[in-house]
Amino acid sequence: MNSDLHGALAACKTLPTLPTVAAQIIELSSQEDYGLSDIIDIVRNDITIATKLIASANTPQYYRGEPAVEISQAVSRLGFKSTMMIALSFSLSVKANSEEQSEIDLLSLWRRSVASGAIARLLARELGLKDPEACFLAALVQDIGVLALSQAAPQTYSTLSETSHEALCAAEKAAFECDHSAVGAWILEQWKLPSEITELVASSHDFATLTLEAGSRKDQWCIAISGLLADAMLAGDQFQAARMVWLIDGVCGENNGTESNIVPLIADAVREAEALFEAQLVQEPIALLEASKEKLFEVMTDASRDVSDDKVTQLEKRVSMLERQGQRDSLTGAINRGHFHAELDRLFIDSTNTHRPLSLMFIDADHFKQVNDTYGHLAGDEVLKWLASAFTELVGEKGLVGRYGGEEFVVILPNAAEKDAMLLGQDVCDYVRDGTVTAGDANIQVTVSIGIATFDPDSKLRGTRDLIFAADQAMYFAKQSGRDLCIVASALPTPPQAVAAAG
Ligand code: GH3
Ligand code: MG
Ligand code: MG
Repeated sequence: MNSDLHGALAACKTLPTLPTVAAQIIELSSQEDYGLSDIIDIVRNDITIATKLIASANTPQYYRGEPAVEISQAVSRLGFKSTMMIALSFSLSVKANSEEQSEIDLLSLWRRSVASGAIARLLARELGLKDPEACFLAALVQDIGVLALSQAAPQTYSTLSETSHEALCAAEKAAFECDHSAVGAWILEQWKLPSEITELVASSHDFATLTLEAGSRKDQWCIAISGLLADAMLAGDQFQAARMVWLIDGVCGENNGTESNIVPLIADAVREAEALFEAQLVQEPIALLEASKEKLFEVMTDASRDVSDDKVTQLEKRVSMLERQGQRDSLTGAINRGHFHAELDRLFIDSTNTHRPLSLMFIDADHFKQVNDTYGHLAGDEVLKWLASAFTELVGEKGLVGRYGGEEFVVILPNAAEKDAMLLGQDVCDYVRDGTVTAGDANIQVTVSIGIATFDPDSKLRGTRDLIFAADQAMYFAKQSGRDLCIVASALPTPPQAVAAAG
Protein backbone atom coordinates (compact mmCIF):
# COMPACT_ATOMS: atom_id res chain seq x y z
CA MET A 1 0.00 0.00 0.00
CA ASN A 2 1.47 3.40 -0.87
CA SER A 3 2.00 6.03 1.81
CA ASP A 4 -0.71 8.42 0.52
CA LEU A 5 -3.36 5.76 0.81
CA HIS A 6 -2.02 4.57 4.10
CA GLY A 7 -2.18 8.14 5.42
CA ALA A 8 -5.73 8.60 4.17
CA LEU A 9 -6.84 5.36 5.79
CA ALA A 10 -5.11 6.15 9.06
CA ALA A 11 -6.69 9.61 9.17
CA CYS A 12 -10.16 8.48 8.21
CA LYS A 13 -12.66 8.70 11.05
CA THR A 14 -15.42 6.75 9.34
CA LEU A 15 -13.73 3.47 8.55
CA PRO A 16 -15.80 0.40 9.35
CA THR A 17 -15.39 -0.36 13.04
CA LEU A 18 -15.10 -3.62 14.84
CA PRO A 19 -18.38 -4.56 16.54
CA THR A 20 -18.14 -4.99 20.32
CA VAL A 21 -18.92 -8.68 20.32
CA ALA A 22 -16.31 -9.33 17.67
CA ALA A 23 -13.75 -7.32 19.64
CA GLN A 24 -14.50 -9.33 22.79
CA ILE A 25 -14.10 -12.61 20.94
CA ILE A 26 -10.79 -11.56 19.43
CA GLU A 27 -9.59 -10.37 22.82
CA LEU A 28 -10.59 -13.67 24.36
CA SER A 29 -8.78 -15.69 21.72
CA SER A 30 -5.58 -13.76 22.38
CA GLN A 31 -5.59 -14.87 26.02
CA GLU A 32 -3.81 -17.98 27.11
CA ASP A 33 -6.48 -19.58 29.10
CA TYR A 34 -10.05 -19.64 27.94
CA GLY A 35 -12.80 -22.14 27.45
CA LEU A 36 -16.20 -22.65 25.94
CA SER A 37 -17.94 -21.00 28.89
CA ASP A 38 -16.07 -17.73 28.25
CA ILE A 39 -17.24 -17.52 24.69
CA ILE A 40 -20.76 -18.51 25.72
CA ASP A 41 -20.77 -15.56 28.11
CA ILE A 42 -19.85 -13.19 25.30
CA VAL A 43 -22.23 -14.40 22.64
CA ARG A 44 -25.26 -14.91 24.85
CA ASN A 45 -25.41 -11.12 25.33
CA ASP A 46 -26.02 -10.60 21.66
CA ILE A 47 -29.34 -12.08 20.77
CA THR A 48 -28.78 -11.90 17.00
CA ILE A 49 -25.49 -13.75 17.14
CA ALA A 50 -26.77 -16.25 19.69
CA THR A 51 -29.69 -17.03 17.38
CA LYS A 52 -27.38 -17.46 14.41
CA LEU A 53 -25.09 -19.78 16.37
CA ILE A 54 -28.03 -21.96 17.32
CA ALA A 55 -29.23 -21.99 13.72
CA SER A 56 -25.71 -22.89 12.56
CA ALA A 57 -25.53 -25.74 15.06
CA ASN A 58 -28.72 -27.10 13.52
CA THR A 59 -27.43 -27.15 9.95
CA PRO A 60 -26.71 -30.68 8.64
CA GLN A 61 -22.98 -30.28 9.16
CA TYR A 62 -23.34 -29.94 12.92
CA TYR A 63 -26.68 -31.60 13.61
CA ARG A 64 -26.47 -34.35 16.25
CA GLY A 65 -29.77 -36.21 16.30
CA GLU A 66 -31.73 -33.59 18.14
CA PRO A 67 -31.98 -29.84 17.65
CA ALA A 68 -29.83 -27.47 19.69
CA VAL A 69 -32.12 -25.04 21.47
CA GLU A 70 -29.76 -23.29 23.84
CA ILE A 71 -26.63 -21.32 23.21
CA SER A 72 -24.51 -23.62 25.38
CA GLN A 73 -25.62 -26.65 23.38
CA ALA A 74 -24.90 -24.83 20.16
CA VAL A 75 -21.43 -23.78 21.25
CA SER A 76 -20.43 -27.22 22.47
CA ARG A 77 -21.60 -28.71 19.19
CA LEU A 78 -19.73 -26.16 17.10
CA GLY A 79 -16.55 -26.19 19.19
CA PHE A 80 -14.53 -23.15 20.15
CA LYS A 81 -12.87 -22.34 16.86
CA SER A 82 -15.99 -22.66 14.74
CA THR A 83 -18.05 -20.73 17.28
CA MET A 84 -15.54 -17.96 17.16
CA MET A 85 -15.40 -17.87 13.36
CA ILE A 86 -19.18 -18.04 12.99
CA ALA A 87 -19.77 -15.39 15.67
CA LEU A 88 -17.20 -13.11 14.02
CA SER A 89 -18.80 -13.74 10.64
CA PHE A 90 -22.22 -12.70 11.79
CA SER A 91 -21.15 -9.73 13.83
CA LEU A 92 -18.94 -8.38 11.03
CA SER A 93 -21.48 -9.02 8.34
CA VAL A 94 -24.25 -7.26 10.24
CA LYS A 95 -21.93 -4.33 10.57
CA ALA A 96 -21.12 -4.20 6.89
CA ASN A 97 -24.77 -4.56 6.09
CA SER A 98 -26.01 -1.73 8.24
CA GLU A 99 -23.58 0.86 6.93
CA GLU A 100 -25.74 3.41 5.21
CA GLN A 101 -25.61 6.36 2.80
CA SER A 102 -22.81 5.38 0.52
CA GLU A 103 -21.78 5.75 -3.09
CA ILE A 104 -21.30 2.04 -3.42
CA ASP A 105 -23.87 -0.65 -3.95
CA LEU A 106 -23.77 -2.18 -0.49
CA LEU A 107 -26.51 -4.66 -1.10
CA SER A 108 -24.66 -6.21 -4.05
CA LEU A 109 -21.47 -6.32 -2.07
CA TRP A 110 -23.26 -7.97 0.79
CA ARG A 111 -24.84 -10.60 -1.45
CA ARG A 112 -21.45 -11.33 -2.95
CA SER A 113 -19.96 -11.79 0.51
CA VAL A 114 -22.63 -14.16 1.72
CA ALA A 115 -22.69 -16.29 -1.43
CA SER A 116 -18.93 -16.36 -1.52
CA GLY A 117 -18.72 -17.32 2.16
CA ALA A 118 -21.11 -20.21 1.64
CA ILE A 119 -19.23 -21.47 -1.42
CA ALA A 120 -15.80 -21.10 0.19
CA ARG A 121 -16.90 -23.09 3.23
CA LEU A 122 -18.39 -25.82 1.09
CA LEU A 123 -15.21 -26.11 -0.97
CA ALA A 124 -13.08 -26.21 2.16
CA ARG A 125 -15.23 -29.09 3.43
CA GLU A 126 -15.07 -30.88 0.09
CA LEU A 127 -11.29 -30.61 0.11
CA GLY A 128 -11.14 -31.83 3.69
CA LEU A 129 -9.48 -28.66 4.98
CA LYS A 130 -9.25 -28.37 8.71
CA ASP A 131 -10.96 -25.05 9.14
CA PRO A 132 -13.94 -24.49 6.84
CA GLU A 133 -15.39 -21.81 9.14
CA ALA A 134 -12.25 -19.72 8.74
CA CYS A 135 -12.83 -19.86 4.98
CA PHE A 136 -16.42 -18.81 5.57
CA LEU A 137 -15.34 -15.84 7.65
CA ALA A 138 -12.56 -14.78 5.30
CA ALA A 139 -14.79 -14.94 2.24
CA LEU A 140 -17.49 -13.04 4.08
CA VAL A 141 -15.20 -10.15 5.02
CA GLN A 142 -13.01 -10.23 1.90
CA ASP A 143 -14.52 -7.04 0.47
CA ILE A 144 -14.44 -4.94 3.60
CA GLY A 145 -11.66 -2.97 1.90
CA VAL A 146 -14.30 -1.60 -0.49
CA LEU A 147 -16.09 0.01 2.45
CA ALA A 148 -12.82 1.37 3.80
CA LEU A 149 -11.71 2.81 0.46
CA SER A 150 -15.06 4.41 -0.17
CA GLN A 151 -14.77 6.15 3.21
CA ALA A 152 -11.07 7.07 3.10
CA ALA A 153 -11.04 8.31 -0.50
CA PRO A 154 -14.68 9.10 -1.23
CA GLN A 155 -14.03 11.45 -4.13
CA THR A 156 -11.81 9.15 -6.10
CA TYR A 157 -13.91 6.16 -5.21
CA SER A 158 -17.17 7.69 -6.32
CA THR A 159 -15.78 7.98 -9.86
CA LEU A 160 -15.08 4.27 -10.02
CA SER A 161 -18.51 3.13 -11.05
CA GLU A 162 -17.40 -0.22 -12.32
CA THR A 163 -19.67 -2.96 -13.52
CA SER A 164 -17.74 -6.03 -12.46
CA HIS A 165 -15.58 -6.95 -9.51
CA GLU A 166 -12.63 -7.47 -11.82
CA ALA A 167 -13.11 -4.03 -13.37
CA LEU A 168 -13.42 -2.51 -9.91
CA CYS A 169 -10.08 -4.03 -8.86
CA ALA A 170 -8.40 -2.74 -12.02
CA ALA A 171 -9.77 0.76 -11.42
CA GLU A 172 -8.65 0.65 -7.79
CA LYS A 173 -5.15 -0.37 -8.82
CA ALA A 174 -5.02 2.51 -11.28
CA ALA A 175 -6.20 4.98 -8.63
CA PHE A 176 -4.47 3.67 -5.50
CA GLU A 177 -1.74 1.28 -6.70
CA CYS A 178 -3.42 -1.55 -4.84
CA ASP A 179 -6.89 -3.03 -4.73
CA HIS A 180 -9.35 -3.52 -1.89
CA SER A 181 -7.95 -6.93 -0.91
CA ALA A 182 -4.81 -5.23 0.46
CA VAL A 183 -6.87 -2.55 2.19
CA GLY A 184 -9.22 -5.17 3.66
CA ALA A 185 -6.30 -7.17 5.01
CA TRP A 186 -4.91 -3.99 6.54
CA ILE A 187 -8.19 -3.20 8.33
CA LEU A 188 -8.54 -6.74 9.65
CA GLU A 189 -4.97 -6.58 10.90
CA GLN A 190 -5.82 -3.39 12.79
CA TRP A 191 -8.70 -5.28 14.32
CA LYS A 192 -6.29 -8.06 15.30
CA LEU A 193 -8.23 -10.76 13.52
CA PRO A 194 -6.28 -14.03 13.36
CA SER A 195 -3.54 -13.82 10.74
CA GLU A 196 -4.99 -16.80 8.86
CA ILE A 197 -8.01 -14.62 8.07
CA THR A 198 -6.06 -11.53 7.03
CA GLU A 199 -3.83 -13.63 4.80
CA LEU A 200 -6.83 -15.19 3.13
CA VAL A 201 -8.34 -11.77 2.46
CA ALA A 202 -5.03 -10.45 1.12
CA SER A 203 -4.91 -13.22 -1.48
CA SER A 204 -8.62 -13.17 -2.30
CA HIS A 205 -7.99 -11.95 -5.86
CA ASP A 206 -5.05 -14.22 -6.63
CA PHE A 207 -7.11 -17.03 -8.05
CA ALA A 208 -5.15 -17.70 -11.20
CA THR A 209 -1.65 -17.40 -9.79
CA LEU A 210 -2.60 -19.55 -6.81
CA THR A 211 -4.08 -22.20 -9.00
CA LEU A 212 -1.03 -22.39 -11.16
CA GLU A 213 1.46 -22.65 -8.34
CA ALA A 214 2.19 -26.16 -7.23
CA GLY A 215 1.68 -26.51 -3.49
CA SER A 216 -0.33 -23.34 -3.21
CA ARG A 217 -2.64 -23.09 -0.26
CA LYS A 218 -5.97 -24.71 -0.80
CA ASP A 219 -7.80 -22.43 1.61
CA GLN A 220 -6.62 -19.42 -0.39
CA TRP A 221 -7.87 -21.05 -3.54
CA CYS A 222 -11.28 -21.65 -1.94
CA ILE A 223 -11.71 -17.95 -1.14
CA ALA A 224 -10.47 -16.71 -4.47
CA ILE A 225 -12.61 -19.03 -6.58
CA SER A 226 -15.66 -18.55 -4.38
CA GLY A 227 -15.63 -14.82 -5.17
CA LEU A 228 -15.52 -15.49 -8.90
CA LEU A 229 -18.29 -18.07 -8.77
CA ALA A 230 -20.42 -15.81 -6.58
CA ASP A 231 -19.99 -13.01 -9.13
CA ALA A 232 -21.07 -15.29 -11.93
CA MET A 233 -24.08 -16.60 -10.00
CA LEU A 234 -25.26 -13.20 -8.87
CA ALA A 235 -24.89 -11.81 -12.37
CA GLY A 236 -26.71 -14.86 -13.78
CA ASP A 237 -23.70 -15.38 -16.07
CA GLN A 238 -24.02 -19.02 -17.03
CA PHE A 239 -20.94 -19.09 -19.19
CA GLN A 240 -18.67 -17.84 -16.45
CA ALA A 241 -20.42 -20.02 -13.84
CA ALA A 242 -19.75 -23.03 -16.03
CA ARG A 243 -16.05 -22.25 -16.24
CA MET A 244 -15.86 -22.08 -12.48
CA VAL A 245 -17.92 -25.22 -11.91
CA TRP A 246 -15.75 -27.10 -14.35
CA LEU A 247 -12.62 -26.07 -12.48
CA ILE A 248 -14.08 -26.77 -9.07
CA ASP A 249 -15.37 -30.15 -10.18
CA GLY A 250 -11.92 -31.04 -11.40
CA VAL A 251 -10.13 -29.94 -8.26
CA CYS A 252 -12.61 -31.57 -5.87
CA GLY A 253 -12.80 -34.71 -8.01
CA GLU A 254 -9.00 -34.95 -8.00
CA ASN A 255 -9.08 -34.65 -4.24
CA ASN A 256 -11.74 -37.32 -3.67
CA GLY A 257 -10.46 -39.60 -6.37
CA THR A 258 -14.00 -39.79 -7.65
CA GLU A 259 -16.08 -37.82 -10.00
CA SER A 260 -17.93 -35.27 -7.96
CA ASN A 261 -21.04 -33.42 -8.85
CA ILE A 262 -20.58 -30.20 -7.06
CA VAL A 263 -23.60 -28.41 -8.50
CA PRO A 264 -26.29 -29.53 -6.03
CA LEU A 265 -23.88 -29.02 -3.14
CA ILE A 266 -23.17 -25.44 -4.17
CA ALA A 267 -26.87 -24.78 -4.57
CA ASP A 268 -27.58 -26.20 -1.10
CA ALA A 269 -24.78 -24.20 0.48
CA VAL A 270 -26.06 -20.99 -1.06
CA ARG A 271 -29.62 -21.74 0.06
CA GLU A 272 -28.47 -22.52 3.58
CA ALA A 273 -26.62 -19.20 3.73
CA GLU A 274 -29.70 -17.42 2.41
CA ALA A 275 -31.71 -18.85 5.27
CA LEU A 276 -29.12 -17.96 7.90
CA PHE A 277 -28.55 -14.45 6.62
CA GLU A 278 -32.15 -13.82 5.65
CA ALA A 279 -31.10 -12.77 2.22
CA GLN A 280 -32.28 -13.70 -1.24
CA LEU A 281 -29.17 -14.28 -3.30
CA VAL A 282 -29.72 -16.40 -6.36
CA GLN A 283 -33.16 -17.16 -7.68
CA GLU A 284 -32.67 -20.74 -8.77
CA PRO A 285 -29.09 -21.76 -8.18
CA ILE A 286 -29.52 -25.31 -9.45
CA ALA A 287 -31.14 -24.17 -12.66
CA LEU A 288 -28.44 -21.57 -13.18
CA LEU A 289 -25.56 -23.93 -12.52
CA GLU A 290 -27.02 -26.89 -14.38
CA ALA A 291 -27.95 -24.88 -17.40
CA SER A 292 -24.50 -23.39 -17.35
CA LYS A 293 -22.84 -26.65 -18.26
CA GLU A 294 -25.09 -27.11 -21.26
CA LYS A 295 -24.70 -23.52 -22.27
CA LEU A 296 -20.97 -23.72 -22.14
CA PHE A 297 -20.72 -26.71 -24.42
CA GLU A 298 -23.14 -25.07 -26.76
CA VAL A 299 -21.16 -21.86 -26.91
CA MET A 300 -17.78 -23.58 -27.13
CA THR A 301 -18.71 -25.87 -29.96
CA ASP A 302 -21.38 -24.10 -31.92
CA ALA A 303 -19.80 -23.00 -35.18
CA SER A 304 -22.76 -20.80 -35.95
CA ARG A 305 -22.28 -18.49 -33.00
CA ASP A 306 -22.37 -14.95 -34.19
CA VAL A 307 -18.84 -13.76 -34.59
CA SER A 308 -19.39 -10.08 -33.99
CA ASP A 309 -20.50 -8.04 -31.06
CA ASP A 310 -23.97 -6.66 -30.61
CA LYS A 311 -23.10 -3.34 -32.17
CA VAL A 312 -22.95 -4.73 -35.69
CA THR A 313 -25.81 -3.91 -37.95
CA GLN A 314 -28.23 -6.38 -39.45
CA LEU A 315 -26.56 -5.91 -42.78
CA GLU A 316 -23.16 -6.82 -41.40
CA LYS A 317 -24.71 -9.86 -39.82
CA ARG A 318 -26.10 -10.96 -43.16
CA VAL A 319 -22.74 -10.49 -44.78
CA SER A 320 -21.03 -12.57 -42.15
CA MET A 321 -23.70 -15.26 -42.58
CA LEU A 322 -22.88 -15.44 -46.25
CA GLU A 323 -19.19 -15.46 -45.48
CA ARG A 324 -19.58 -18.49 -43.35
CA GLN A 325 -20.30 -20.40 -46.46
CA GLY A 326 -16.87 -19.37 -47.68
CA GLN A 327 -13.72 -20.08 -45.77
CA ARG A 328 -12.21 -16.74 -44.90
CA ASP A 329 -13.16 -13.88 -42.70
CA SER A 330 -13.43 -10.77 -44.86
CA LEU A 331 -11.88 -8.31 -42.39
CA THR A 332 -8.75 -10.20 -41.47
CA GLY A 333 -8.36 -12.86 -44.12
CA ALA A 334 -7.95 -15.51 -41.42
CA ILE A 335 -10.00 -18.69 -41.87
CA ASN A 336 -13.49 -18.23 -40.46
CA ARG A 337 -15.03 -20.11 -37.63
CA GLY A 338 -16.95 -22.65 -39.64
CA HIS A 339 -13.88 -23.59 -41.63
CA PHE A 340 -11.76 -23.65 -38.48
CA HIS A 341 -14.02 -26.31 -36.96
CA ALA A 342 -13.90 -28.38 -40.12
CA GLU A 343 -10.10 -28.17 -40.26
CA LEU A 344 -9.69 -28.93 -36.58
CA ASP A 345 -11.88 -32.04 -36.90
CA ARG A 346 -9.87 -33.22 -39.86
CA LEU A 347 -6.48 -32.58 -38.25
CA PHE A 348 -7.60 -34.17 -35.00
CA ILE A 349 -8.39 -37.41 -36.82
CA ASP A 350 -5.02 -37.20 -38.61
CA SER A 351 -3.26 -36.71 -35.35
CA THR A 352 -5.01 -39.70 -33.77
CA ASN A 353 -4.12 -41.89 -36.73
CA THR A 354 -0.49 -40.84 -36.94
CA HIS A 355 0.09 -40.58 -33.16
CA ARG A 356 1.47 -37.10 -33.66
CA PRO A 357 0.65 -34.18 -31.38
CA LEU A 358 -1.79 -31.43 -32.26
CA SER A 359 -1.78 -28.10 -30.47
CA LEU A 360 -4.45 -25.45 -30.39
CA MET A 361 -3.90 -21.84 -29.43
CA PHE A 362 -6.58 -19.38 -28.36
CA ILE A 363 -5.49 -15.77 -28.68
CA ASP A 364 -7.62 -12.95 -27.30
CA ALA A 365 -6.74 -9.27 -27.62
CA ASP A 366 -6.50 -7.63 -24.20
CA HIS A 367 -8.87 -4.82 -23.26
CA PHE A 368 -9.94 -4.49 -26.85
CA LYS A 369 -13.07 -2.65 -25.91
CA GLN A 370 -10.83 0.16 -24.67
CA VAL A 371 -9.05 0.26 -28.03
CA ASN A 372 -12.41 0.81 -29.75
CA ASP A 373 -13.51 3.31 -27.13
CA THR A 374 -10.27 5.29 -27.36
CA TYR A 375 -9.50 5.21 -31.07
CA GLY A 376 -12.79 4.26 -32.69
CA HIS A 377 -14.13 1.11 -34.28
CA LEU A 378 -12.35 1.64 -37.59
CA ALA A 379 -8.99 1.90 -35.86
CA GLY A 380 -9.98 -1.23 -33.91
CA ASP A 381 -10.52 -2.97 -37.24
CA GLU A 382 -7.03 -1.95 -38.33
CA VAL A 383 -5.61 -3.50 -35.17
CA LEU A 384 -7.46 -6.75 -35.86
CA LYS A 385 -6.07 -6.85 -39.38
CA TRP A 386 -2.57 -6.20 -38.09
CA LEU A 387 -2.95 -8.94 -35.47
CA ALA A 388 -4.14 -11.47 -38.02
CA SER A 389 -1.25 -10.69 -40.34
CA ALA A 390 1.24 -10.85 -37.48
CA PHE A 391 -0.10 -14.26 -36.43
CA THR A 392 -0.02 -15.52 -40.01
CA GLU A 393 3.56 -14.34 -40.40
CA LEU A 394 4.76 -15.85 -37.13
CA VAL A 395 2.93 -19.14 -37.61
CA GLY A 396 4.07 -19.50 -41.21
CA GLU A 397 3.92 -23.06 -42.49
CA LYS A 398 3.52 -24.47 -39.03
CA GLY A 399 -0.23 -24.04 -38.84
CA LEU A 400 -3.47 -22.32 -39.64
CA VAL A 401 -4.73 -19.01 -38.27
CA GLY A 402 -8.46 -18.54 -37.76
CA ARG A 403 -10.75 -15.85 -36.42
CA TYR A 404 -12.89 -17.46 -33.75
CA GLY A 405 -14.98 -14.45 -32.81
CA GLY A 406 -14.67 -10.65 -32.56
CA GLU A 407 -11.17 -10.15 -31.16
CA GLU A 408 -10.47 -13.79 -30.55
CA PHE A 409 -8.23 -15.84 -32.80
CA VAL A 410 -7.27 -19.49 -32.97
CA VAL A 411 -4.19 -21.20 -34.33
CA ILE A 412 -4.16 -24.90 -35.18
CA LEU A 413 -0.67 -26.36 -34.98
CA PRO A 414 -0.45 -29.90 -36.37
CA ASN A 415 2.65 -31.82 -35.24
CA ALA A 416 3.40 -29.27 -32.54
CA ALA A 417 4.13 -30.58 -29.06
CA GLU A 418 3.14 -28.45 -26.11
CA LYS A 419 6.59 -26.96 -25.65
CA ASP A 420 6.81 -25.94 -29.32
CA ALA A 421 3.41 -24.33 -29.14
CA MET A 422 4.43 -22.55 -25.95
CA LEU A 423 7.56 -21.10 -27.59
CA LEU A 424 5.51 -19.86 -30.48
CA GLY A 425 2.91 -18.43 -28.09
CA GLN A 426 5.59 -16.51 -26.25
CA ASP A 427 6.93 -15.16 -29.54
CA VAL A 428 3.43 -14.01 -30.42
CA CYS A 429 3.04 -12.21 -27.09
CA ASP A 430 6.43 -10.52 -27.49
CA TYR A 431 5.83 -9.51 -31.07
CA VAL A 432 2.43 -7.98 -30.36
CA ARG A 433 3.62 -6.18 -27.23
CA ASP A 434 6.57 -4.64 -29.08
CA GLY A 435 4.61 -3.65 -32.17
CA THR A 436 2.68 -0.48 -32.99
CA VAL A 437 -0.31 -0.17 -35.29
CA THR A 438 -0.75 3.11 -37.10
CA ALA A 439 -4.34 4.02 -37.81
CA GLY A 440 -4.92 7.61 -38.99
CA ASP A 441 -3.00 9.79 -36.56
CA ALA A 442 -3.02 7.20 -33.80
CA ASN A 443 -0.20 4.86 -32.84
CA ILE A 444 -1.85 1.98 -31.07
CA GLN A 445 -0.23 -0.64 -28.89
CA VAL A 446 -1.97 -3.78 -27.75
CA THR A 447 -1.21 -7.04 -26.01
CA VAL A 448 -2.75 -10.49 -26.27
CA SER A 449 -3.47 -13.32 -23.87
CA ILE A 450 -2.93 -16.85 -25.10
CA GLY A 451 -4.12 -20.27 -23.98
CA ILE A 452 -2.70 -23.48 -25.41
CA ALA A 453 -3.90 -27.07 -25.27
CA THR A 454 -2.18 -30.04 -26.82
CA PHE A 455 -3.54 -33.39 -27.89
CA ASP A 456 -0.95 -36.17 -27.99
CA PRO A 457 -0.91 -39.92 -27.42
CA ASP A 458 -0.69 -39.42 -23.62
CA SER A 459 -3.38 -36.81 -23.59
CA LYS A 460 -6.58 -37.23 -21.66
CA LEU A 461 -8.42 -35.05 -24.16
CA ARG A 462 -10.99 -37.10 -25.98
CA GLY A 463 -11.99 -34.92 -28.87
CA THR A 464 -11.88 -31.50 -30.44
CA ARG A 465 -14.46 -30.28 -27.96
CA ASP A 466 -12.11 -31.03 -25.06
CA LEU A 467 -9.23 -29.43 -26.93
CA ILE A 468 -11.14 -26.20 -27.59
CA PHE A 469 -12.43 -26.15 -24.05
CA ALA A 470 -8.98 -26.63 -22.53
CA ALA A 471 -7.36 -23.95 -24.72
CA ASP A 472 -10.10 -21.49 -23.85
CA GLN A 473 -9.76 -22.26 -20.16
CA ALA A 474 -6.00 -21.67 -20.35
CA MET A 475 -6.64 -18.37 -22.13
CA TYR A 476 -9.02 -17.38 -19.36
CA PHE A 477 -6.27 -18.11 -16.84
CA ALA A 478 -3.88 -15.93 -18.78
CA LYS A 479 -6.46 -13.12 -18.47
CA GLN A 480 -6.90 -13.74 -14.76
CA SER A 481 -3.14 -13.85 -14.25
CA GLY A 482 -2.67 -10.33 -15.55
CA ARG A 483 -2.92 -10.64 -19.39
CA ASP A 484 -0.11 -10.37 -21.95
CA LEU A 485 0.72 -13.97 -21.08
CA CYS A 486 0.78 -17.42 -22.61
CA ILE A 487 -0.44 -20.33 -20.49
CA VAL A 488 -0.68 -24.05 -21.29
CA ALA A 489 -3.72 -26.03 -20.22
CA SER A 490 -1.55 -28.73 -18.65
CA ALA A 491 -0.45 -26.17 -16.05
CA LEU A 492 -4.03 -25.92 -14.79
CA PRO A 493 -5.17 -28.18 -11.98
CA THR A 494 -8.26 -29.50 -13.74
CA PRO A 495 -8.06 -32.99 -15.13
CA PRO A 496 -9.35 -32.58 -18.67
CA GLN A 497 -11.34 -35.81 -18.52
CA ALA A 498 -13.81 -33.89 -16.37
CA VAL A 499 -15.01 -32.24 -19.55
CA ALA A 500 -15.68 -35.44 -21.35
CA ALA A 501 -17.26 -36.96 -18.27
CA ALA A 502 -19.52 -33.99 -17.82
CA GLY A 503 -20.55 -33.82 -21.44
P1 GH3 B 1 -10.34 -8.73 -22.17
O1 GH3 B 1 -8.92 -8.31 -21.97
O2 GH3 B 1 -10.95 -9.24 -20.92
O3 GH3 B 1 -10.48 -9.68 -23.33
O4 GH3 B 1 -11.14 -7.39 -22.51
P2 GH3 B 1 -11.81 -7.01 -23.90
O5 GH3 B 1 -12.20 -5.57 -23.83
O6 GH3 B 1 -10.88 -7.37 -25.04
O7 GH3 B 1 -13.02 -7.99 -23.99
P3 GH3 B 1 -14.54 -7.77 -24.25
O8 GH3 B 1 -15.05 -9.14 -24.61
O9 GH3 B 1 -15.17 -7.05 -23.12
O10 GH3 B 1 -14.64 -6.82 -25.49
C1 GH3 B 1 -14.30 -7.23 -26.78
C2 GH3 B 1 -14.42 -6.04 -27.68
O11 GH3 B 1 -14.03 -6.35 -29.01
C3 GH3 B 1 -15.84 -5.53 -27.75
C4 GH3 B 1 -16.13 -5.40 -29.23
O12 GH3 B 1 -16.71 -4.17 -29.53
C5 GH3 B 1 -14.79 -5.54 -29.89
N1 GH3 B 1 -14.90 -6.15 -31.20
C6 GH3 B 1 -15.39 -7.38 -31.48
N2 GH3 B 1 -15.37 -7.57 -32.83
C7 GH3 B 1 -14.85 -6.44 -33.38
C8 GH3 B 1 -14.58 -6.03 -34.72
O13 GH3 B 1 -14.81 -6.74 -35.71
N3 GH3 B 1 -14.04 -4.78 -34.90
C9 GH3 B 1 -13.76 -3.96 -33.85
N4 GH3 B 1 -13.23 -2.76 -34.10
N5 GH3 B 1 -14.02 -4.32 -32.58
C10 GH3 B 1 -14.55 -5.55 -32.35
MG1 MG C 1 -12.74 -8.54 -3.65
MG1 MG D 1 -10.45 -9.39 -25.36
